Amino acid sequence: MTKNGRFTVSKSALEKFFSGCAFRYKLYREWNMKDDKLPPALKNGIEVHQAIEDALTGTGSITREEAKRVVNWVEKNEYTILGTEVRHWAPLTNEIALFGIIDAIAETPSGEVVLIDWKTASSQWTASRTADGKLVTINAQSWQGPIYLTRPESSDIIAPSAWPTRMQYIVIPKSGAIGVWDYEASEADTQQLISACNLLKHAADIGSFPKNKGWQCGRCDFKRVCWESPGWEKFYEERKPKK
Ligand code: SF4
Repeated sequence: MTKNGRFTVSKSALEKFFSGCAFRYKLYREWNMKDDKLPPALKNGIEVHQAIEDALTGTGSITREEAKRVVNWVEKNEYTILGTEVRHWAPLTNEIALFGIIDAIAETPSGEVVLIDWKTASSQWTASRTADGKLVTINAQSWQGPIYLTRPESSDIIAPSAWPTRMQYIVIPKSGAIGVWDYEASEADTQQLISACNLLKHAADIGSFPKNKGWQCGRCDFKRVCWESPGWEKFYEERKPKK
């Protein structure tokens, strides 16, 4: 995928490429799983996100308990929602750009603008201690933070020069209180992201996505199309013409 001449990378693309089987990235670029075939957890996450979007923008009645809890949380913490479902395109290097859809951009009561990502979870995230005694929330350390916090070329919501440096994961567990977990922009993480994107771009340039057939296939979303199991076409729709 390219935009303005740059090879474009998303969180999902990186996750597929570095999932343990690079071939998943190729299948991800070519096939979408049909809505009625999505795994229940993924389908639930999509529905909750839509319900939160509807609730925050007032475009629908609040249909899900999770959305009601998020609206209450936003009001209680006096956040001002500046935008939802924000399409984010940001140049990373001269050859690579990043793409993602940011759940929300909000202003805190102190006037700071932050990026927000809603996460549904079976239980609340916890912090873990590293060998050097540092407390980290592992789930908040993924590539998503550096991708979204990379300054875009333009934005209708906030000037690129004032782009936030903090992202907040708002975790909505099945029971218990909503949790707020911060990710702060870091130059070291940006360098890791550049390395990862360069590896993916190189693989795309030479068309090399080796399959890692074996034990990983059992839990792979693309197993049916990859192995062309009988009736596999019922599960996927073409994302773009095969190369
Ligand atoms: S089914 Fe196996 S070989 Fe095919 S993409 Fe998935 S993990 Fe890779």
